[in-house]
Amino acid sequence: MHKKTLAELSQGLKNGSYSSVELTQHFLDRIQRNDTQLNSFITVTQSQAMAQANLADNQRQMGNATALTGIPLGHKDIFCTKDIKTTCGSKMLENFIAPYDACIIEKLNTAGTVSLGKTNMDEFAMGSSNENSFFGPCKNPWDTSRVPGGSSGGSASAVAARLVPAATGTDTGGSVRQPASFCGVTGFKPTYGRISRWGMIAFASSLDQAGSLTQTAEDAALLLNEMAGLDNRDSTSMDQPVEDYTAQLNNDLSGLTIGLPKELFAHKLEASVETLIDSAIKQYEKLGATIKEVSLPNSDLSVPAYYIIAPAECSSNLSRFDGVRYGYRCDDPVDLNDLYVRSRSEGLGEEVQRRILVGTYALSAGYYEAYYRKAQRVRRLIKNDFTEAFKEVDLMLSPTAPSTAFKVGEKTKDPIEMYLSDIYTIAISLAGLPAISIPVGFSQNLPVGLQLIGNYFCESRLLNAAHQYQKNTDWHQQIPEQYV
Ligand code: GLN
Repeated sequence: MHKKTLAELSQGLKNGSYSSVELTQHFLDRIQRNDTQLNSFITVTQSQAMAQANLADNQRQMGNATALTGIPLGHKDIFCTKDIKTTCGSKMLENFIAPYDACIIEKLNTAGTVSLGKTNMDEFAMGSSNENSFFGPCKNPWDTSRVPGGSSGGSASAVAARLVPAATGTDTGGSVRQPASFCGVTGFKPTYGRISRWGMIAFASSLDQAGSLTQTAEDAALLLNEMAGLDNRDSTSMDQPVEDYTAQLNNDLSGLTIGLPKELFAHKLEASVETLIDSAIKQYEKLGATIKEVSLPNSDLSVPAYYIIAPAECSSNLSRFDGVRYGYRCDDPVDLNDLYVRSRSEGLGEEVQRRILVGTYALSAGYYEAYYRKAQRVRRLIKNDFTEAFKEVDLMLSPTAPSTAFKVGEKTKDPIEMYLSDIYTIAISLAGLPAISIPVGFSQNLPVGLQLIGNYFCESRLLNAAHQYQKNTDWHQQIPEQYV
């Protein structure tokens, strides 16, 4: 059962080939057998999962099933889940039980999905390797001496090892796409505002967007059908009609123009990764697409602009973790200041503290104009570049990451080196555009991902292009030997 996609499992449940209880038990067993090695889950919710599976089977018997009724999922531990520990990968929230469900959890529960538990992540979603998790690093199932990418590393690793058929993730600068590339799965981030952020613990609110880690683009479409939509509790959620995202998957690609942003292709890339990207481009030509060079002249400024804007927003968002209201509190504070300082110093990890410091500095009087305001202006230039380029093409394409998965510990000493893992993904986040990473081959037994970028709210076109590639290739079906 674990070799099947969501779409196939949905069919199997419908045909009565297995019940949700059987399916759920199968995946719980796989988690139990394999996750000591991978550490892709922070919390496994066995009894809740079985209760939800029972309910799903009853719903189906009564004729009330949706396409996702009875499907087991993993949820990144950044989403609040009612009565279940929600840690965000931090000691600060080590024992935090959320009093409500995040909007997407609510929606997926209503659709009848079953939650197997909460997946590992970099603390507060800050990182590119999952090594910043208070609960220990998660491992890459293709090579457990390597990182799964981050920050949604637990979700990517769990899907790659087929411990779950699919999982939720979040992407602020690349956190769905880069781990998808490192783990050989499909990582999809819709347009900013397409999915409500309500109940998703905030890192950088103007960039944070929920997404999915799945085996296929078709599965991403199935999940988006349930996750998308206006939510008045999130003022940046957009009032745009929710399409049936599975309806356009089979359009053929003739007439489609795909742009190659020349500045992104000018970066140094591992040679074997480059070869695989080239053959994916050829595959798209074979499928009928026209390839055309485009320019994003300001894209080199995206990493520096992001590392002002994201820390600035995080310094403000994380001020709520003060040892007073909820979360970790230090022992025996001598006064209020000591309570604040020690609770935050002891409860937050090194990378999170680094970003709070950078962000506070960038927002302080005297530096605000020089850093924050300037970064916002650069952000607008980057967005304008995309708007111009999308006048000439329907989609754009680039590598997802400059390398394959690196070794655990390889980049932890050098934050800048770590930040550069996202050189291909960050500009898209700054612009708020949708993008997807799909597996396009292996370099020395490690997966390589290709990123497709769409225009605002053109999720259907993006998923169609990814699905057509997957219909003609089988990279997305590969499973690490040990987990077959
Ligand atoms: N790696 C980037 C960072 O550390 C992106 C993280 C994310 O998308 N949540 O900020």
